[in-house]
Amino acid sequence: MYPMWRFMRPDAKSVWKDNDVIRRLSRYRKIIDDKRWAKYLLAKDIIVSENLEESTEQLWAIHQDYSDLFDEYMENVDTGSDRKSIDDDVTVSFLDLKIELANRILMKCHFCERKCGVDRTKDNTGWCKLDDVSRVSSAFLHSGEEAPLVPSGTIFFSSCCFGCVFCQNDDISTNPRSGSAVTPPELAVIAERLFSDGAININYVGGDPIPNTHTILASMRFQASNVTQLWNSNLYCSIETMRLLCDVFDVWLPDFKYGNNECGMRLSGVKDYFSIVSRNHLMAYNSGEVIIRHLVMPNHLDCCTIPILEWIAENMPQCMVNIMAQYRPEHLVLQQPDKYPEIGRRVLNSEMRRAQAKADELGICWRPVS
Ligand code: SF4
Repeated sequence: MYPMWRFMRPDAKSVWKDNDVIRRLSRYRKIIDDKRWAKYLLAKDIIVSENLEESTEQLWAIHQDYSDLFDEYMENVDTGSDRKSIDDDVTVSFLDLKIELANRILMKCHFCERKCGVDRTKDNTGWCKLDDVSRVSSAFLHSGEEAPLVPSGTIFFSSCCFGCVFCQNDDISTNPRSGSAVTPPELAVIAERLFSDGAININYVGGDPIPNTHTILASMRFQASNVTQLWNSNLYCSIETMRLLCDVFDVWLPDFKYGNNECGMRLSGVKDYFSIVSRNHLMAYNSGEVIIRHLVMPNHLDCCTIPILEWIAENMPQCMVNIMAQYRPEHLVLQQPDKYPEIGRRVLNSEMRRAQAKADELGICWRPVS
């Protein structure tokens, strides 16, 4: 049967005729064509000889050494060397080291920069209201993502570490009990099913995937398909979380929302937004391929859109950007209209034209992905 997404998104095929897209997403395209290995599979090839019962500080030092080794190994395999063959059942791998470190972060939670410090393994919860159980609210072949990503095997996790006053997904982002609890093996079954149904990537989103980093990494132990792993997130991760993710995620789909710290605090309730998220964008850019999403918001051109585009042009010139016009007032913006008057309407065509003209002026690649 001809898949429905081919009727709905003919651009998902035609986008791959654009040489600029192929160049900017070259490794991702090669994974789709089975000419490169997804990074998580390579991370499982690397044998860790050290004891995982070392102190956390020691494990991070070991992690750094293996991360350097991983870069070298990936480059060798990408350029034609054979993969190492290891026995999963008896060997501790680089992925296992990451899982161990993620479980330690969970015990004093700092997956995101809120750094609540609670022990989520003991039924305690922090700002995101999640204990150690991850919940999936839905998982399906998504045909509405950026053209190079369709069909995307998208997994929506419940809850979030942001408190966006305009959230358009608040039914799941503000309800940590929504969806069904999943163990790592169950999450792997979901990912493998999406792949066998035709997904060209496994797309972890929410809410936000950050509070579920431990479950996602552990599920990779049970996944085996050569499929791109895609991190779709607000990217308010702690630096430790970023270090865990960088060697296993092939493609990043971060939301770059605000061009300064003040808008981040006022509209999403987070500290030091720009400093943290720009740091993490750079880490993602240095470790994989990136499509940035920027949702243009009414009256936020000068404080957010323009500074973000300028920052991207200067720091991440090879990434792609989706300049989005889908903003609509939702959630607290509707409930408390007097508190957020400047974002109480949709974005104007003139605002979108200004954003696009700025991107063109800066030489940013934005059109082919929208
Ligand atoms: S994921 Fe973030 S918000 Fe949730 S408990 Fe951990 S540090 Fe707090």
